[in-house]
Amino acid sequence: MGNNKEKELIFEMSKKGRVAYSLSECDVPEVALDSVFPAEYLRQTPAELPEVSELDLMRHYTELSNRNIGIDTTFYPLGSCTMKYNPKINEDVARYAGFAKIHPYQAEDTLQGALQVLYDLQTELCEITGMDEVSLQPAAGAQGEWTALMMIRAYHESRGENRKQVIVPDTAHGTNPASVAVAGLDTVTISSDEQGNVNLDELRKAVGPNTAALMLTNPSTLGLFEENIVEIAKIVHEAGGMLYYDGANTNAILGITRPGDMGFDVVHLNMHKTFTGPHGGGGPGAGPIGCKKELVPFLPRPKVVKDGETYRLDYDIPQSIGRVKAYYGNFGILLRTFVYIRANGPVGLRRVSEEAVLNANYMMRKLAPHYDLAYDRVCKHEFVLSGRRQKKLGVRTLDIAKRLLDFGYHPPTIYFPLIVDECMMIEPTETESKETMDKFIDVLIEIAKEVEENPAIVQEAPHTTVVSRLDEVTAARKPILRYRKTLQEQAALQEEGSNVNEGVNV
Ligand SMILES: *Cc1c(COP(=O)(O)O)cnc(C)c1O
Repeated sequence: MGNNKEKELIFEMSKKGRVAYSLSECDVPEVALDSVFPAEYLRQTPAELPEVSELDLMRHYTELSNRNIGIDTTFYPLGSCTMKYNPKINEDVARYAGFAKIHPYQAEDTLQGALQVLYDLQTELCEITGMDEVSLQPAAGAQGEWTALMMIRAYHESRGENRKQVIVPDTAHGTNPASVAVAGLDTVTISSDEQGNVNLDELRKAVGPNTAALMLTNPSTLGLFEENIVEIAKIVHEAGGMLYYDGANTNAILGITRPGDMGFDVVHLNMHKTFTGPHGGGGPGAGPIGCKKELVPFLPRPKVVKDGETYRLDYDIPQSIGRVKAYYGNFGILLRTFVYIRANGPVGLRRVSEEAVLNANYMMRKLAPHYDLAYDRVCKHEFVLSGRRQKKLGVRTLDIAKRLLDFGYHPPTIYFPLIVDECMMIEPTETESKETMDKFIDVLIEIAKEVEENPAIVQEAPHTTVVSRLDEVTAARKPILRYRKTLQEQAALQEEGSNVNEGVNV
């Protein structure tokens, strides 16, 4: 485990009395805490916090942050996540005091600029998706899915129908069936055919009077455009169901085609993927939804509307499913995506998609001699390789992903979609240069050679990172999130069955 990069914890650096701040002398009388708060809420012993100087504090966290792999430091081909460059002009605008220092409960007449941004973004997303109205409230793709499913439920109920089944292809993102469950509906899974399209025979058998909706990702998570989309829309609509478009990644279709034109009734978009909201690390996202007019009455409230020259919030939506997020959505992310859309304009957005697709096909063709292609078709914004060939030599896709860390890359998405054996899903995005892609391609080819000549080096990777291969299942199931100072305390943790990684406190 580890190497010479073993690092002191901030608690271990602590020296009594050292501080990272200086305050001027207090010039008001001190107030005893127990005269303000009930005694039972007060700590008996002081909180044990690390005591370090400002410089040591800065170095400590800067060094830790440098250990991260991020889009600003390296190529990050995490398929389905669209890890494109987040332009810094987004950050500039998000920091304007007029946006950063307002409060959502200010009077509306003092928030006109912010409301205009939201209103215009709604309009732009309608145009991009071919929908009639948009709600910016959902805070993530998954929440957008759930919101839309609740609207679909309300729609069917308003017509006196009790439709509970949602059809989801086996290539779908895991959030799809999860959202179905949280919305109180039932998932019906259908399979894909040999070309990676929806199996139409299965779809025809699956639809019926209980069909609430079909959820589809197009291009699918295989990076393939659904060739039978018009037929699919017809089958679902004739059965009385709604068509839901998982638009988490619309990086292949901007300005080229629109969910609304393909026959979809409702869509969510991920602002933190296609539209350059920074993402990863669990930061805030935004998953707006757009819908056709049949579903408009059920949209979350409030909506941002425009009366003459005035923008305001409209709460008067009697059939609304209600509010799904505090205030009006994650404003900071929505603002960044608004800047991105304006900076590119319609022509620029179309180029984004054309180049994303070109890049993905370039990489796919270059890698095809060295790894198996899951489907030998023109791909859209991403493509899926299979490590079947390497598995026969005893090396798994997980090993290849770990080996990529030694070369300084974030690995692609692996083992998703579930239907491709040993898969690796690569999404270069449009923001990468040919040189960057070529370097990455060379590394993957080199790893393929290692698999043949020296599999152990791949199987035991990574070799150059701060920690080597971790027990990921235990780390996820029994994380240790608190520092324990003494060996005694650590032993107690181990007793509890937690995973103390050879003395490293996670
Ligand atoms: C990322 C993704 C989602 C979920 O989006 P979150 O913002 O992570 O909730 C749903 N579907 C697809 C296809 C995705 O790639």
